Amino acid sequence: MENFEVIIVGAGPAGSLAARKTAEKGLSVLLIEEHSTIGLPVHCSGWLNGCPYTEKLVNEFGRDKIITKVDRWRVWTPKGEFAYEMKFNGGYFVDRVKFDQFLAQKAVQAGSQLSIGTKVIDLIKEDEKIIGIVAKRKGKIQKIYSDLLIGCDGSKSIPMGIAEKSGILKYDKKKERKYYPGIQVEFLNMKDVEPGVIEIFFGSIFDKHIANAFVSNLDEEGHALVGFGTYQDYLNVKKNHPVLKKRLKNAQEFGLRGGLYAFLLGEALKTGVLSGLMLCGDAVGYHGIIPAAISGAMAADIAVDAVDASSFSMETLQEYDKIRRKHPIGKAKLGMSFADIPENALNTFLKEQGEMLNKELFKGLELFDYESNQKKKIE
Ligand SMILES: Cc1cc2nc3c(=O)[nH]c(=O)nc-3n(C[C@H](O)[C@H](O)[C@H](O)COP(=O)(O)OP(=O)(O)OC[C@H]3O[C@@H](n4cnc5c(N)ncnc54)[C@H](O)[C@@H]3O)c2cc1C
Repeated sequence: MENFEVIIVGAGPAGSLAARKTAEKGLSVLLIEEHSTIGLPVHCSGWLNGCPYTEKLVNEFGRDKIITKVDRWRVWTPKGEFAYEMKFNGGYFVDRVKFDQFLAQKAVQAGSQLSIGTKVIDLIKEDEKIIGIVAKRKGKIQKIYSDLLIGCDGSKSIPMGIAEKSGILKYDKKKERKYYPGIQVEFLNMKDVEPGVIEIFFGSIFDKHIANAFVSNLDEEGHALVGFGTYQDYLNVKKNHPVLKKRLKNAQEFGLRGGLYAFLLGEALKTGVLSGLMLCGDAVGYHGIIPAAISGAMAADIAVDAVDASSFSMETLQEYDKIRRKHPIGKAKLGMSFADIPENALNTFLKEQGEMLNKELFKGLELFDYESNQKKKIE
């Protein structure tokens, strides 16, 4: 019977950080990833928001691998008018596939066992404690047991993954479970691409849930990633948007990606633990690579304490909920929908108050940092 101190499901940023940090402390760790190549399929633009934690990870990853440094944020109204542009500590764009592979490599080098091409299909419970997983690999079903399970299975955890299967969501009954589809089109030969600038275009032309398009300007050769709600959005925009239609006229589609946004209207689940289980990253409702990585590192610290104390009860693991809620990742608004604001009101709002509110938002994101020895201070 296979048995580990910690099983981690999902080798995204949350899972790889959790695996690395627990393995570094000598725990026996199994990191399970359903896909056969880490990082694929990619759904993300690879924007690492500017903050001390990003600097640490990028130093390790290699500064020569940065695609573009980001230093400006530009906002457009639903009428297609320029609203404002602000300088900010914007972080970097990186190749998300290479970045995820780098993080997973670190986890393996620290001593984690990695099982790729292995999909967790169910959880094993005993007396309300999660004691293991049922996994499928090359058509074979296998049960693997652990003292602790760390669920890092991304945004689909909430509708159909570990968050759903574990029953954790019933502790957040009042919260509507919100997760939206998003697509991203990679373009070459797009017009007016200004590397270093992130642009956001609002308007009812876009998918009703997200109500914006997010433009990641990558390089001067007209290389950009544009996030829409749906493919239909993109087709409408290409034909009808006052600014983007000109930019996209001769642009060449170079890639198409899709994913789920884990927005819970910008708030993570308050309860992310059960007996024998912690959830991190999108699985607990965060949105973003850095919050995912930090929550994985926090869960690892709590896992190490739990193994030391041989205590895996919900009460013991609630320490994780406490520290993540007090940390800037727990306080920042990580996703917002402007869908319900009428266009005229949004036009005025963006021009009059947008920049001020944006500055407040970025102040929060710029604080993201975490070290294991910080845990005590957060407590
Ligand atoms: C279109 C789009 C663009 C985005 N752009 C950005 C951006 O530029 N910057 C940013 O910070 N954030 C961005 N995000 C959000 C970001 O991608 C996520 O917040 C981040 O990836 C969360 O990390 P994670 O480790 O929690 O989950 P993920 O990165 O989603 O990793 C989860 C892993 O779990 C694996 N998995 C899932 N289920 C199972 C299972 N049953 N068994 C085994 N393995 C499983 C998956 O294959 C995956 O590898 C974007 C999201 C979308 C949808």
